[in-house]
Amino acid sequence: MAARKKTLGGSTKPSERLRTAGLRPTRQRCVLADLLFRHGHRHVTAELLHQEAEKAGHAVSLATVYNALHQFTHAGLLQQVIVEPSHSYFDTNTGPHQHFFDEDEGRLTDISADISVSGLPQPPKGTKIQRVDVVVRIRRI
Ligand SMILES: [Zn+2]
Repeated sequence: MAARKKTLGGSTKPSERLRTAGLRPTRQRCVLADLLFRHGHRHVTAELLHQEAEKAGHAVSLATVYNALHQFTHAGLLQQVIVEPSHSYFDTNTGPHQHFFDEDEGRLTDISADISVSGLPQPPKGTKIQRVDVVVRIRRI
């Protein structure tokens, strides 16, 4: 479980990373940031991160994990990818990129190729397009 350590400041200490993003480095936030960022880019759900925290011996409620993931997202540390209304993934890669969603395994992976989206509509008056998320859903054949 080493490799890809140096990607985008992957070796930054959790408390430093939180402080830089303008978040107070509480113990629980540090625990979650450490689990999220120590192995390079990844996609996690709140449930998965909650399980990892418990497995590592940290008593953190699922609600706390949800709150932290949303706070990290607002602070620019994560990108939220909504696959279904009830199913969000949080992505440590905040750069522009798109995803495959494996419906059989419930797994999100990055698409390495560039995708072009054409025919985007004019956004409603007084708004601008912030970003376009493409989720290509796949199944086993
Ligand atoms: Zn991604």
